Amino acid sequence: MNIQRHPLRATAPGTRREVTSLHFGVRGSGPKAVLQASLHADEIPPMLVAQHLRRALEELEGAGRIRGEIVLVPSANPIGLGQRVLEQPVGRFDLASGENFNRHYPDLLERVAARLDQPPMLDTRGNIAAIRALMRDECAALPVLTQLQSLRQILLSLAVDADTVLDLHSDNEAILHLYTTPTLWPAVEPLARALRCPLALLADGSGDDPFDEACSLIWPRLAARLAQRSGKDPDPILSMACVAATVELRGESDVSHELARTDAGALVRYLTLRGHVAAVADVVDPPFTPMALARPLSGSIPVAAPIGGVLVYLRELGSHVAAGEPFAEVVDPITGETVAVASPVDGLFFARDARRFVAAGARIAKISGVEATRSGKLMSA
Ligand SMILES: [Zn+2]
Repeated sequence: MNIQRHPLRATAPGTRREVTSLHFGVRGSGPKAVLQASLHADEIPPMLVAQHLRRALEELEGAGRIRGEIVLVPSANPIGLGQRVLEQPVGRFDLASGENFNRHYPDLLERVAARLDQPPMLDTRGNIAAIRALMRDECAALPVLTQLQSLRQILLSLAVDADTVLDLHSDNEAILHLYTTPTLWPAVEPLARALRCPLALLADGSGDDPFDEACSLIWPRLAARLAQRSGKDPDPILSMACVAATVELRGESDVSHELARTDAGALVRYLTLRGHVAAVADVVDPPFTPMALARPLSGSIPVAAPIGGVLVYLRELGSHVAAGEPFAEVVDPITGETVAVASPVDGLFFARDARRFVAAGARIAKISGVEATRSGKLMSA
């Protein structure tokens, strides 16, 4: 294992923060996978999964089973980890700018496309390698003034040339679920099965450029540009050169060695299926659990509290709820008024707020329906 440290641009003289990445295998000798934990720094389960994964990858490296390079960023956000307000951690938003740490990743499309001044003349594999070199160049040339921009540049630089990118998060209280694009879903579906993940939310761009989309969506867009120039159909292999997903490892309090060990094992099985780890007989087949529900992210409906008060859930996470069915209540502790919260759709109740006293209008739950009913920006703030 090779440990690399990447200093962030300092906010003030005399201060220093850095991102640490762990590198297994040999760079450039085969495919590349990147897994990063807790870009939202208050989402703890991924950091423990990363520790179990680190030990597993060390063993695999010792056994000579890493193909190419696997990069693990075990704690991706030193800015967020250092933020506290009134003793409460603040890891989702950058306090200096108010920006969400997993939004606004730079889009390299125009920069890279501008340097592809003619259709590449190589085969697909050669084109992918040439485009990755351009991406690395353009990432290194991104303007960086703030520490947050510096963090984004470092994380994107580590992952932009990877074949597989898994960004590990957790929700507030939730069942396991993941986000990817409809095109990539067939390549991500074995991950859902290995993790026993019951829900995948699919979108061709969720609206605010999260990390996984910055790594993956540039490829189909570049393939479409090149196809336009050549008059041919987009190259499907080029379109899927980076398979990326955001994995929500349940809720923020679901931290246990048992869960983390199981999740790390599932990630290794997926890395094996993707060709990043040489297979041996006992790890070739993931446990084939029932297929995850693959639903449009635009059908995932956030539900707001109708009044402020004490929040009481009537249904458990993972329940299927009918449109109009009350799944929670908010109780006004002064008047005693109780207002039912009904599901807006037939769907899977998959995520909810961990607080039990809520403000009027606060988002308290997400229910995944089948119909694509929303448009515009699809992710929460
Ligand atoms: Zn997150």
